[in-house]
Amino acid sequence: MYSYMKSPRFNAIAESQKRKSIAIEEKGRRSELFGINVFNGKKMLQYLTKDALESLKGAMVSGSKIDRKIADQVAEAIKGWAITMGATHYTHWFQPLTGSTAEKHDAFFDLLPDGTALEKFGGGQLVQQEPDASSFPSGGIRNTFEARGYTAWDPSSPAFIYGTTLCIPTIFVSYTGEALDNKAPLLRALGAVDDAATAVAKYFDKTVTKVNATLGWEQEYFLIDKALAHSRPDIMMTGRTLVGETPAKGQQLDDHYFGVIPSRVLSFMSDLEKECTKLGIPVKTRHNEVAPNQFELAPVFEEANLAIDHNLLLMDVMDKIADKHQLKVLFHEKPFAGINGSGKHNNWSLATDTGVNLLSPGSTPMKNLQFLTFFINTIKAVDSYEELLRSSIASAGNDHRLGANEAPPAIFSIFVGSQLSNVLDELEGVSKGKLSPEEKTELKLNVVGKIPEILMDNTDRNRTSPFAFTGNKFEMRGVGAKMNCSKPMTILNTIVAKQLRDFKKEVDVLIDKKSLKKDEAVFNVLREYIKTSKRIRFDGDGYSTDWENEAKRRKLSNNKNTPEALEVLTSKNSIALFESMNVMSEIEVSARQEVDLENYIMHLQIEGRVYNELVYGYIMPAALEYQNKLIKNVSGLKEIYGAAHKKFSEGQLTMIEEIAEHVVGIKKMVDAMADARKKANSLKDTKKKAEAYCHNVKPYFVEIRMHSDKLEKLMDNNLWPLTKYRELLFIQ
Ligand code: ADP
Ligand code: MG
Repeated sequence: MYSYMKSPRFNAIAESQKRKSIAIEEKGRRSELFGINVFNGKKMLQYLTKDALESLKGAMVSGSKIDRKIADQVAEAIKGWAITMGATHYTHWFQPLTGSTAEKHDAFFDLLPDGTALEKFGGGQLVQQEPDASSFPSGGIRNTFEARGYTAWDPSSPAFIYGTTLCIPTIFVSYTGEALDNKAPLLRALGAVDDAATAVAKYFDKTVTKVNATLGWEQEYFLIDKALAHSRPDIMMTGRTLVGETPAKGQQLDDHYFGVIPSRVLSFMSDLEKECTKLGIPVKTRHNEVAPNQFELAPVFEEANLAIDHNLLLMDVMDKIADKHQLKVLFHEKPFAGINGSGKHNNWSLATDTGVNLLSPGSTPMKNLQFLTFFINTIKAVDSYEELLRSSIASAGNDHRLGANEAPPAIFSIFVGSQLSNVLDELEGVSKGKLSPEEKTELKLNVVGKIPEILMDNTDRNRTSPFAFTGNKFEMRGVGAKMNCSKPMTILNTIVAKQLRDFKKEVDVLIDKKSLKKDEAVFNVLREYIKTSKRIRFDGDGYSTDWENEAKRRKLSNNKNTPEALEVLTSKNSIALFESMNVMSEIEVSARQEVDLENYIMHLQIEGRVYNELVYGYIMPAALEYQNKLIKNVSGLKEIYGAAHKKFSEGQLTMIEEIAEHVVGIKKMVDAMADARKKANSLKDTKKKAEAYCHNVKPYFVEIRMHSDKLEKLMDNNLWPLTKYRELLFIQ
């Protein structure tokens, strides 16, 4: 048998060629499907008593507690609805610190002592559950307190049915009150920004009673054939390719972006959108991204907590639907070297319960002063805590984007566009203290009044800046494709909350002690913020910027890898921030730092092991097989031509040597890497261990890859055992 027939690579290619796209039925209107699997407003009206409805609404809007009797009623109603929808199980759905979601399914079904069967799901089960928490990372919280963890219902995110399971969004906390998940701190941060932003919004409109943070994420992903994905142990184990020669045609031609979507992908997308619609995820746009087989999906924005639940649910739905279509979704931030990575842009803003987007310029000077207040305070917040914001998107996968030569860089800067830059420059000249009537008029007419309702120049905006103002919202671009947005959103909302609280204090002092008018006081404080936060504003072209020097010049942090980036989390300043905003205690912050470091170590550990397997199990055997073929050829030539064979075997001899060189090289590197791993593993301190993986283990990955890619280029295509980039990226 020829060896290529044994190869999983060629079997997978043959398999992938047989695929047909699955026809997706498009019956009925999307709007009729929307939310049919969600226990939302309409169903609440239908299934809940008036008392229960009011109590539930209170809990959703103001976070008030629901008493047990009401919980029983709500549970009964949800169960009634879920059973008519065909649900057989229920689960508390939560966000452990690992980043994804977790669930433990229980049947509605229960037996009475006399053996009668009944459907059971009471208020108790709705409100609180005790999953076996020991298998979830806690960063030592549970060891410290020897406390068990429980999940508690988050009524601000509605229950939904997924498959045959009723899912109840919950937070996960220890019995001593520490958050063991990503959602609890997020809800606290959203509460903090609500309080602070509402207080400031009242300067402009007394009727505002609540401010919601809004989030619209854009999910990038790669989609490749399932058989091809399965043929690569590295993709299966690590989500990315650890080796692989860049194909002759990469993304240079840019013909994929907004190009025609292949039919299999299109039917996956239709299927996915249908499923999302039923689950109440308002997905809207789809188009090809920059790289081959890369795509994007974005919903209409929602309240941040709900948007995050929807993103987490979406990633799960995507996995399942892709499987049905014989495809595999890659959420990894950098699945292919030399090809664009995947991010998850977080579009963020603040919206009042009176329906105003606080980051949207308005039609009157007063509305624009409100806009400027929130706009400048956000800039100031990011300036004060840029390093903390950077830490919120640190992960092993994202290190390939942020610390590398890809946009956006690991350095946080803000792009606001030339129109708003000009406005800020003018505001810098506002007089100290009281303003003359002329100055007030001038400000009203020519500065604040001049901000157009739609900011035109933001349409052809800089696309590489990590934090950009895009007309009526900020867009945080560094978030990784695989990440849970809770982390960056917790930090962003916390720092903005802190900033708005400080702002309110300063303005009130000027009003009370210096008897300034409200708008004079606001102008005075904003002027100082503009002056002190200048270094964070960057209006240049991100592509041609020397970020290294730019960061140094501006004294901005430039933490290129995860262990470095995570350090700031537990600085005195950060802890003070989290504690003062009641978002996290010192223990909770340290626990998260610990878990993130452990995650980082685990990722590199697995990658290291897979490198071992690839080199010994695939790459070296194939290289030696090919080398043997060449050796046989040369000795054959020698047999025929004797000493004169050199004339004919010169090329083969060089190749034999080249292969030998890379085989020796790759073996050396993989063995040295194994030693470095052993050394790193023996370290007790998590931070030191993470650093050892980062600086002593990871560099070998690059060397191993270099040898492997050289061999791939040298080798007989039929003998190369690993599915190639061109096959992964161009077979559709
Ligand atoms: P681009 O790809 O150019 O960044 P898109 O139109 O794809 O722009 O993405 C815009 C995203 O911004 C959408 O996901 C949308 O839901 C979101 N968005 C729009 N307005 C707001 C807002 N006020 N708050 C949060 N997100 C918003
Ligand atoms: Mg975007």
